[in-house]
Amino acid sequence: MKPQVPGNPEFDYLRRAPTGLCWWCGSLADSREHKYKRTDLVRLQGEGSPLIWGGDPEKTHQIRSVRKSEAVRFGIDMCRACNGTRSQPFDRAYDEYVAFLWKHKDDMWFWDGISMPAIFGDEWTSKQLDLARYFAKHFGSRIVDEGLEVPAGLVNFMNGGTKAANISMCFAKREELWEMHKGLRGVTDGPPGLWLGGVNAQLSSDRSKVAALQTNCLVGYVGVEFLWDENRRDMDSFFPHEIPVLNEFLAEPGLVEAIRARSRESSDTRKGGVRGSDTQRRKALSGARSGIGRFLNGE
Ligand SMILES: [Zn+2]
Repeated sequence: MKPQVPGNPEFDYLRRAPTGLCWWCGSLADSREHKYKRTDLVRLQGEGSPLIWGGDPEKTHQIRSVRKSEAVRFGIDMCRACNGTRSQPFDRAYDEYVAFLWKHKDDMWFWDGISMPAIFGDEWTSKQLDLARYFAKHFGSRIVDEGLEVPAGLVNFMNGGTKAANISMCFAKREELWEMHKGLRGVTDGPPGLWLGGVNAQLSSDRSKVAALQTNCLVGYVGVEFLWDENRRDMDSFFPHEIPVLNEFLAEPGLVEAIRARSRESSDTRKGGVRGSDTQRRKALSGARSGIGRFLNGE
């Protein structure tokens, strides 16, 4: 059985069966994207014991193959061209970003922002867009995985737009994962896990469609917060900023208050920050956070 975070049955009437078509270009889908990037899994596994996937409340799953295991891949939702050559620049930018995260894994908790030139050098303006498009593709596949339609703004952005309409993608660091990182320092030589946040949704007032979606994706305690909201066009993202904000999310129970406080702070002076979050009005579309690591059993 495929290891899957349980979906919320309340949303089932809005989900649709897989179309069999590539959600990016519309051709026949014949390829599966990695839910957790293969290079991340290989690096995380190192020479150590097999990785463990956690996210199903019933049990954890051992990852037998970082290339083929069901837990590490999405369903068949893309064509080979889109999943391969067309998205290669996105993959390359993401690999540079992750190498930077590993290098600074013990320091980033103390940072207020992430310097794009420090990761990408002189080409940072184009490469940060490729990085953002990597995340756009990833979040798109997660939306398809939920049985929902990918927002048009996401596809336009992947096609070369420099803005992603109705979408916000901002960097974030999460306190509970930082605590975990500190606890495992010296035991693992890198971030202890790769994490996908649960997907939260907000419905339109007549409940006929999803009006907003929120989730995240992290390597260790640093990652990207994703928000799509059909009613908000003014949201900021980490691009096109040179040193976008690294938003701090404090652990529960103060999470919501922290998001609000940070939103207020970031509204004027900071760039690429999370603004006016209304997470508390959303409902889980599928489960809590899931992740892959070597030490997830206690999570
Ligand atoms: Zn395609």
